[in-house]
Amino acid sequence: MRDDWREQRNQIIGLGENSFKKSYYPELQEKLSELETSYKNLKSIFDNVGEGIVLHDENGCIYFHNRQAEGIINARKNVLKDNEFNVLDLFSNDCDKNKMLAIWEEVMGGASRVISIPLIPLGSEKKVYVQVSMNKTIWYGKPLIVVVIRDFTERARFENQLVKAKEKAEEGERLMTAFLQNISHEIRTPLNAIMGFSGLLVEDELTHDRRKDFVSIILRSSNQLLNIVNDILTISSIETSQVKLSVTKSDINEMIDKLFASFKEDADTKGLELCYHKGFAENKAEVYTDVLKLYQIMSNLISNALKYTNKGSVTFGYDLKSCEEGECILFFVKDTGIGIEKERQNVIFEKFRKIDDKSGALNTGMGLGLSIAKAFADIMSGRIRVESVAGKGSVFYLEIPYKPIY
Ligand code: ADP
Repeated sequence: MRDDWREQRNQIIGLGENSFKKSYYPELQEKLSELETSYKNLKSIFDNVGEGIVLHDENGCIYFHNRQAEGIINARKNVLKDNEFNVLDLFSNDCDKNKMLAIWEEVMGGASRVISIPLIPLGSEKKVYVQVSMNKTIWYGKPLIVVVIRDFTERARFENQLVKAKEKAEEGERLMTAFLQNISHEIRTPLNAIMGFSGLLVEDELTHDRRKDFVSIILRSSNQLLNIVNDILTISSIETSQVKLSVTKSDINEMIDKLFASFKEDADTKGLELCYHKGFAENKAEVYTDVLKLYQIMSNLISNALKYTNKGSVTFGYDLKSCEEGECILFFVKDTGIGIEKERQNVIFEKFRKIDDKSGALNTGMGLGLSIAKAFADIMSGRIRVESVAGKGSVFYLEIPYKPIY
């Protein structure tokens, strides 16, 4: 529907002074005005449909396009009209171009096609996602390709979000199932030990030493069980936002001593050296902090360090550092253990995440320790991160704001 009809009208009106024109002139004028009105109506309908419409002749030349097509392709009217560009330039790569060429051939052969494809509007670098439907029709006896372009960018973005949300939900479900399997294993193991050894304690002929061994196993298993229950309760309090910051005046050197005392035996049992470092002098280590949360974070990190280290040492401690916000206390827990591969270093802070390992050594634990540590660090306006080399060891860092007591 190029403006050919206007040219034809002008030719008719300019036929010259002949009797035909004289007798039919008023009728002709009326018909032409009807034609013009119907052209305008049709154009208005085309321009107001939501889709871009482009009619091509069989050589690919644009015969007509509506306003939406200009919008989607981002072409000034004359660019499309003068046929200054090749429609294939809109496709970002050869693969898409070839795909379009093949489809064009099919449509020329009479097939009707609908494809979804990204294209790059003129003068832009950002792709838009379009659905293009192509059909062949006959217009005044000539073949014409009708291309309807629908901008799908918003919908594609929405679909993408949906796919991601679905994947996340599936991943969450998978992790939850693994967690439930894990939890039953983690609870049963110490519970079985407690029940089994308690049963043995009643035997009369037990030696004193055997009895002591059994009691110590029972105590260890009870502690394990208590830790599991605590972790589950803590994570559920975190999830329901019930954990609040509780800052008090606290001596962090005392906390380091307590940590050392509580893990020394475990380190000795595994033949590991346990060392600590204090950044403040004794009696000068009082700061404002939430010491219970700090203790829990450090305790989770040290317990992991001991769990995932088979020989060498575990060192923990802190130093005063300057940081973006001024001064902060940088705590660390360093081990010479199995380390963590680069690509796993972020996911370990997510809840229920454990690194599966066929050896079974890594399969203990519920994958909650680090997520609790991270959640507590967040509540304390702190940051937690890891540096690690697989096979060599890891250093976990916790940075918290320094609030001195003046
Ligand atoms: P888990 O109860 O499984 O130890 P965590 O949340 O404490 O749960 O740790 C998540 C995972 O991070 C662990 O399963 C382990 O694979 C890895 N990890 C944590 N600390 C260390 C460490 N010091 N050395 C090596 N791997 C570690």
